[in-house]
Amino acid sequence: MTTILRHALWRVLPDPARRPPARYVQCRECEEKSPVTPVQAESDLWAMTHSGRTQHTLYREFAATDLITKRVRGGSS
Ligand SMILES: [Zn+2]
Repeated sequence: MTTILRHALWRVLPDPARRPPARYVQCRECEEKSPVTPVQAESDLWAMTHSGRTQHTLYREFAATDLITKRVRGGSS
């Protein structure tokens, strides 16, 4: 996404020092959540283990990406 703000052109980018996104899975049939992890296989394993224990089968995945802004050109803000 780009936008002009105070005569400067900025870009919003994923923070290269913080990849990959942090994620967790939440069961939609109860309130339980997986631990936060950058590794999708770990949240998938949590969901499969939760299903085996509870018979719950509906989940929602949340992922958060840290972002940075970077001035492209111009402006003195
Ligand atoms: Zn559940």
